[in-house]
Amino acid sequence: MYVNVLIETKVKSNNMMFTYHASKDVCDNIIGKRVLVPFSSRIVEGFVIEFTSLPTNYEAKDILKVIDDEPVLNEELINIGKYMSDKYLCPLIYTYQAMLPKALKANHKVNDKVKTLTYVKLNPFLDVSNVKIKSQIEIISLLKKNKNLLKSDIKSKSSLKKLIEKGIVTEYKKEIYRDINATETKKEVILTKEQNEISSRIKQSLGISKVYLLYGVTGSGKTEVYIDVVKKVIEQGKTSIILVPEISLTPQITARFKGVFKDKIAILHSSLSDGERYDEFRKIKRGEVKVVIGARSAIFAPLKNIGIIIIDEEHSESYKQENNPRYNTLDIALKRSKTHNCPVILGSATPTIESFARAKKGYYNYLELCQRVNKKPLPKVEIVDMKNEIRKGNKIFSSLLINKIEDRLNKKEQIMLLINRRGYSNYLTCPNCGYVFKCPNCDITLTYHKTSGMMRCHYCGYAEYKKSVCPNCKETDIRQIGSGTEKIQEEIKEIFTDAKVVRMDADTTSKKGSHNKIINDFNEGKYDILVGTQMIAKGLNFPNVTLVGVINGDSSLNIPNFRSSERTFSLLDQVIGRSGRALKAGEAIIQTYNPDHYSIVFASKHDYKNFFVREMLVRKKLNYPPYCFITLIKISSKDFNYGINEAKKISMFLKNNLSSKTSILGPSIASVLKINNNYNFQVILKYKKDDKLYDTLNELIKIYEGNYKVKIELDFDPINL
Ligand code: ADP
Ligand code: ZN
Repeated sequence: MYVNVLIETKVKSNNMMFTYHASKDVCDNIIGKRVLVPFSSRIVEGFVIEFTSLPTNYEAKDILKVIDDEPVLNEELINIGKYMSDKYLCPLIYTYQAMLPKALKANHKVNDKVKTLTYVKLNPFLDVSNVKIKSQIEIISLLKKNKNLLKSDIKSKSSLKKLIEKGIVTEYKKEIYRDINATETKKEVILTKEQNEISSRIKQSLGISKVYLLYGVTGSGKTEVYIDVVKKVIEQGKTSIILVPEISLTPQITARFKGVFKDKIAILHSSLSDGERYDEFRKIKRGEVKVVIGARSAIFAPLKNIGIIIIDEEHSESYKQENNPRYNTLDIALKRSKTHNCPVILGSATPTIESFARAKKGYYNYLELCQRVNKKPLPKVEIVDMKNEIRKGNKIFSSLLINKIEDRLNKKEQIMLLINRRGYSNYLTCPNCGYVFKCPNCDITLTYHKTSGMMRCHYCGYAEYKKSVCPNCKETDIRQIGSGTEKIQEEIKEIFTDAKVVRMDADTTSKKGSHNKIINDFNEGKYDILVGTQMIAKGLNFPNVTLVGVINGDSSLNIPNFRSSERTFSLLDQVIGRSGRALKAGEAIIQTYNPDHYSIVFASKHDYKNFFVREMLVRKKLNYPPYCFITLIKISSKDFNYGINEAKKISMFLKNNLSSKTSILGPSIASVLKINNNYNFQVILKYKKDDKLYDTLNELIKIYEGNYKVKIELDFDPINL
């Protein structure tokens, strides 16, 4: 028999499949397994994708070794990979590498893949009557009583060794799963009338491939609806996938699912070790769990018989993978929904403009939870114009925010402060000559981190100690511009000396478990104030928080991107929603230099629907999604001139080949020109429908296949322009 084997090579071709000969004894069940094959003068690892007939004039080499006992890719996953490769024009091998845990990727060595325990038992065929030594007799009688014992549980190691040597006792290994120690919270709820109606509507369509958009303000009880639907799916003997934006950021939601579904659930954390991830993956593959909860890549969970796919916080940008394969989780969900005939639920308090538009047009079925479960009104929000505050000499905190913080501290209630930038100051500059400290590899300013005394590049990780002298004019009065989380924490401690302040950002949560610790400590009241980046905005539930302060509501508005208004609205809405979630009423304060911007005004009123209407006008006027599709062509080169020249050629090539209705913008410089010593350019395509798109882009890829001086990447429906 002949099979096509997909291998990873340096050649930037979309499809590196080669035909090999598989002898009779390995043919059985070989599709989806990893194999070793000879390739030019090397031996490489690859995936067996399909049977094939031998092309004429081709001498196929033999497969050297089959690595797996069981296929790592099933038929559905193999098809999904092909679908992704066609849809995103990315190399097929990347799609499979993205689906699998590290231990099962091709060419990735992971130690201790399977964890085993060693047990001992009596050999039933040997006579034990001639054993005379007391300690050995004890072991034998122990083993007679307990059929299988852990080797480590037997105290007298030397006697055991003797018995094993004589063959009286045999040892054997048994595979176990690593315990990922997921916390559980248990809570019995009876669904409200509204929740019940929505849940029944979804349950009625189990078995049908369709999409629901579930819109509901934070705290309206979406999660309980998901749980109720999943229970029904399990009753029907089917499985469920639940996706959450970033699982380590949402431990509370995971704990609720774990509390209900216990050992029927597999959890795919981003902070799992390779071994833990591999164990969870095997539980899923062996059909030992019914529910999988995880971030983006959990959409590839090799479940059989899927009954529902839930994408919570569907607006989250984490559902788009930002490196090859640049896939959109929803595309994969839809593909699987068609294969399994199951519904997809998209849930959010701030759906993407595209999703809400699709629901309005009837492409999605629209569901709405109108109230918070506890009927608590949403927090009262005040907008503070920082232009006035600056005049009063308040650079960071407005008087209103300071007064409110003081009030809450007196009442022993908690406060959350959002500042969407980590580090101490945004950048360091010389007031004399205007010199700005920049990363030598990237076209980006260095952020000062006071805790470590370093200036760091948030793009490539470059770091150097803070300089006290301007390298240009030798001025010694270096200024720190802008504030990050470290600075806010420091300033707030200076004003409220008795307050206990904790900080949550990428710097304080890099160690395993540190994120959870901050959340638990804050929840238990060990701190009064939590300062953090957007990390604090998502999915957290702290009953005693009654004040949320947004230090700089504009930070996400000023980023040049057609989604910046949407991002701002959604971030503000989410963080405001953290206030007053339990019995006490909540409040929020947004400090801004743009108090009249519609994103800020509508967010302060919790008015998603009017925000949507307003934003759609902007999208229509400027011709942005959902009024068109966008594909981004990223061009990068170490050589600036070469890069820009190729970018011009590419733009010309596209103009000559694409439909005249497609607009081709650029080449232009990407949002950051230089990253890691590569110069970045881009061409933007906007189109409603272009029949020539795929052929043209495929041809473009072919043209640059062997060219290592420039790198071309395609990004369909990009989130960053
Ligand atoms: P969302 O996911 O929309 O933010 P949740 O499902 O997390 O909302 O619900 C918010 C809070 O209300 C949670 O603490 C949840 O346990 C509680 N809750 C939800 N539904 C009910 C219900 N029917 N009865 C009692 N409490 C509920
Ligand atoms: Zn850098």
